[in-house]
Amino acid sequence: MSGPNPYVVAKQHVERVGKMIGLDEGIIEVLKTPRRELIVNFPVKMDDGTVHMFQGFRVQHSSVRGPCKGGIRYHPEVTLDEIRALSMWMSWKCAVVGIPYGGAYGGVVCDVKKLSRGELERLTRRYASEISIIIGPQEDIPAPDVYTDGQTMAWIMDTFSMSVGHCVPGIVTGKPIQIGGSQGREEATARGVMCVIQEACKAKKLDIRGATVAVQGFGNVGWHAARLLFQEAGCTVVAVSDSTGGIYDPKGLDPMRVHEFKKKGGSVVGFPGSREISNEKLLELDVDILVPAALEHVITKDNAKRIKAKIVAEGANGPTTPEADAILYKNGIMLVPDILANAGGVTASYFEWVQDLQFFFWSVDEIKERLRAIMINAFAPVYKISKEKKVDMRTAAYMLALGEVARALELRGIYP
Ligand code: NAD
Repeated sequence: MSGPNPYVVAKQHVERVGKMIGLDEGIIEVLKTPRRELIVNFPVKMDDGTVHMFQGFRVQHSSVRGPCKGGIRYHPEVTLDEIRALSMWMSWKCAVVGIPYGGAYGGVVCDVKKLSRGELERLTRRYASEISIIIGPQEDIPAPDVYTDGQTMAWIMDTFSMSVGHCVPGIVTGKPIQIGGSQGREEATARGVMCVIQEACKAKKLDIRGATVAVQGFGNVGWHAARLLFQEAGCTVVAVSDSTGGIYDPKGLDPMRVHEFKKKGGSVVGFPGSREISNEKLLELDVDILVPAALEHVITKDNAKRIKAKIVAEGANGPTTPEADAILYKNGIMLVPDILANAGGVTASYFEWVQDLQFFFWSVDEIKERLRAIMINAFAPVYKISKEKKVDMRTAAYMLALGEVARALELRGIYP
C-alpha cells in the first residue's frame, strides 16, 4: 500500500471514535489490538527444481462477535501492518451490517504474475497448511482478495478437507458454485454498492434515474457496479477507468459493451465514441455519483477540494484519506464509507457459509433480497447517527461498529 501506514490510520480511527462514544481506555486498547498474529515462512518447490522461501500472514483481529472472517491477498508488497489494518476493518464492517463475525485477514508476499499455475497451487496449499492451525469453519473463514480468486479458495478448501479426511466447504467462501459456492457472490459487493447509493440518493433527495456516475476501476467491483447502476437503477454512467486509463462520454456509456470491449483488448481505453481521460480527471468530473472501486488513497487532501460529485460510495477499501474525509464533509458531499458501502461482499460470503454449514442452497433471488434488506438496514442507522451527531458518515459508521463490538465485549467480559 502506498501512502500512510494503514495500521496507524486504523488505530487512529479507533482512538478518535472510541473517545467520542465514551469507551474506557482499556477497551479502546483491546479494540485496536489484533488478538492473534501468525507469521509463516515456508518453502515451495519451483518448476525448475529450486526451492524458494515465502512469507505469509494470518491476523485475527477479533472473535468477540463470532468466528473471524476476511480475505487473503497475494501481493509483492503486502506487509503485516497492512494485514492488521485489513483485519480490523473487517471487524467493523461485519458489525456495521450486523453479521455475526469478527475480523481477520491474510496475505502472502509474492508476485503471482511471476508464478506458474503449478507453483501458485503448491504455494497456496502450503500456505493453507501452515495457517490451518488457526483457521476452520467455526474459527476463521478466509475469502478471496487482491490476486486470489475462486480457484485459490478451491485449493485451500481441498487442502483443509484432505487434512481432516472429509469435505469441509465452510472453511472458505468465494468458492466456485460446484464445490459449495453461492449464487450471486460475484456481483454481491457491487449490488451492495448500488443499494447504498439508492439510499444515499433518497437521503440527498437526488433522483437516481438519470443521475450521472463515474466509476474508477473496472474489475469485479467497478464493472458490476457500473452495470447494475445502469441496468437496474437507471443511472447514466458517463465515465469508467482501469489501470491503463479512463473513458468519458457525457451522453452515457453502456457498461456491458465496454466490458465486451475490454475483454477483447484488455483495456477500456479506445472504446468507440468515448473520449480518453486520466484516472485523476475521472475523480474530478462534474457527476452526481462517484464510485472509487480500484485502489486505496486516491482521494487525498490534494484533490478532495476538486471533487464535484454529490455522493461518493467507496467500492474500494480505503480510497479516501482522513484529511480528504474532512474536506468532502465540509463541502457537503455525502461519502458512504467502505465499511458500509462494500460490505455486500462479506454479507454474501456469510450467506455462502450459512448454506455450506447446512448443505442447503438458496436461489439467486433469495440472495439478492436478503442482501438488499441487510444493506438498507445498515445504511439507515449510520445515516441517523451522522445527522443526529453532526458527523460524517465514516465517523457515524465507526461509532456504530465500535459500539457493537465494545458491547459484545462487555457482555462476554474479560476472560478469566
Ligand atoms: P479487481 O482486481 O477485480 O479490479 C481492480 C480494478 O482496478 C481493475 O479494473 C484494475 O485495472 C483497476 N486498477 C488497478 N490499478 C488502477 C489505477 N492505478 N487506476 C485505476 N484503476 C486501476 O479488484 P476488485 O475485487 O474489484 O477490488 C477493487 C477494490 O474493492 C479493492 O480495494 C478491494 O479490496 C475492494 N473490495 C473488493 C471486494 C470484492 O468482493 N471483490 C469486496 C470488498 C472490497
